[in-house]
Amino acid sequence: MTLVILSACVDLKDGICTTSCPVDCIYEGERMFYIHPTECIECGMCESICPVDAIRYDDEVPEGEEAYAQLNTAVFQLPDGTVNEPGGWSKGMAPLRDPPALAEMATEASKEKELS
Ligand code: SF4
Ligand code: SF4
Repeated sequence: MTLVILSACVDLKDGICTTSCPVDCIYEGERMFYIHPTECIECGMCESICPVDAIRYDDEVPEGEEAYAQLNTAVFQLPDGTVNEPGGWSKGMAPLRDPPALAEMATEASKEKELS
């Protein structure tokens, strides 16, 4: 079990959660932040600090958010299938490239919002 960042972070990305993480395992991507699946020590400090409730334990992911939860692993996956372990995020690092699936998912979500 680990923690994951979900859709509410997309394009908000204020970075507040990074200030609470004792091991700097919350990484900035182009459109959202991601929690590293193996560097996270599951302390739970970041969960309550997010102003839009985007952070959850991976066994408490709400319905419809599963694909966003998976992005937290996909973004660190190397072409050979191993997991990239950068060893900690710091301000000023180049953002990770978002998995291509994020663009599709975010477009779908904004279309649904427009229709509702
Ligand atoms: S605090 Fe929430 S919205 Fe802000 S960067 Fe972290 S996960 Fe995203
Ligand atoms: S649960 Fe703790 S270690 Fe994991 S991302 Fe949140 S603050 Fe960092």
